[in-house]
Amino acid sequence: MHDSKPHVSLSEVRILLWDIDGTLMRSTVQGGYKQYFSATMQKVFGNAGRFDEIIPSGMTDTQIMFEALRGEGFTPEHIFERKDELLQVFQAEMKAVSAENGEPYETLKGVREILAETDENPDFINALLTGNLSVAAEIKLETVGLWDYFADAPNAFGEISHNRSDLAVEAGKLFNARYEFDFKPAQFIVIGDTPNDIICARAFGAKVVAVKTGRGQSAESLAELTPDYLLEDLSDTKKVLEILQTL
Ligand SMILES: [Mg+2]
Repeated sequence: MHDSKPHVSLSEVRILLWDIDGTLMRSTVQGGYKQYFSATMQKVFGNAGRFDEIIPSGMTDTQIMFEALRGEGFTPEHIFERKDELLQVFQAEMKAVSAENGEPYETLKGVREILAETDENPDFINALLTGNLSVAAEIKLETVGLWDYFADAPNAFGEISHNRSDLAVEAGKLFNARYEFDFKPAQFIVIGDTPNDIICARAFGAKVVAVKTGRGQSAESLAELTPDYLLEDLSDTKKVLEILQTL
């Protein structure tokens, strides 16, 4: 939001890479994404494959499509070949479903306060590291009034790769390019709710704070991967900010 705010030196700054679903916000309607996802796949690929059987949490949007369609002979390349059309149709389908169902999202506890605080604080830069397609991320965050925090950031979205671990590495490259600086992976803190968030942070060498606010994640599956911190939620904003400041 405040790209022009003064930062501590770039070698000291902490970059917060936020996951969206289950971390910043969540859908209040379980399975609410199914309608626009499957309509998009039908329109772009002529087929939704085994989409109904997929448990998508922690997966990128393009990975969900690939997993659903691989039995039909699709490769990730087939998905990415249609990227422009995919983004366009996905956006239209999401908007149509929102218009029909209202705005079925809620911001998770503590998130607004932490974003407001870190946005003003020169020690931090906020960005997204999400499996969501950019169009989906914008619609969701716009709905709950959080998009402005990320609109100008070098965000890593689901159309970059179907593999979430690539996204963290890509986030590093995007930051280096934007700031013309060679950030150390340890300056990045991934904040997410699934085992895949932890795995992708580690693949890059970033730190990671896991939160238990996602649906369908067992606390054990997160703990097993030994994130730097595992929090119930982000509601104790003072403690969360202290963690982000000292990690
Ligand atoms: Mg998530």
